[in-house]
Order: sequence, then C-alpha cells, then structure tokens
Amino acid sequence: MDDELKRIWVADEGCIGCRLCERACPTGAMRVEDKQARIDYALCIACGMCATKCRKGVIHDTLGIYAPAQ
Ligand code: SF4
Ligand code: SF4
Repeated sequence: MDDELKRIWVADEGCIGCRLCERACPTGAMRVEDKQARIDYALCIACGMCATKCRKGVIHDTLGIYAPAQ
C-alpha cells in the first residue's frame, strides 16, 4: 500500500459518530461504527473531504492542507 494515502487519519478519541465524514466520502472508505470513524485504506484516495466536514476536528491530515469545518 502507498503510505501517501495514510496521510488522512482519525484520532482514537473525540469522534461523536455523527457520520458527516462518512456521507462526504466519495469512495465509501470512511465508515462509522460504535461512534468511531475508521478509514479503509484500500478504498481511501486521500481526497480530504472527510477532514473538511468533521466538526470535532478529529480527522487529521499529516500535511495540514485540509481545514476542519467550523
Ligand atoms: S480522504 Fe477522501 S476517500 Fe479518504 S476517507 Fe476521507 S473522504 Fe474518504
Ligand atoms: S465527522 Fe468527525 S465526529 Fe463525525 S463521525 Fe466523522 S470523525 Fe466522527
């Protein structure tokens, strides 16, 4: 797997399971179960849409190029 795709990641704490990220994900890579969002890196294209939608700021981008939702 290309490590470049893993630049988007979800923190282990702070997710409230609102599914805004899941709904924004164009590939179905983001899934929320038991109030915790997780990324299937086999599907993720590192587009950053999930990070722009999360109002809790728990989706992080190692390059810091996606601004969290306000
Ligand atoms: S970076 Fe894009 S493809 Fe990857 S989980 Fe987020 S919205 Fe889905
Ligand atoms: S948008 Fe943020 S708080 Fe909501 S389910 Fe996704 S990671 Fe969790």
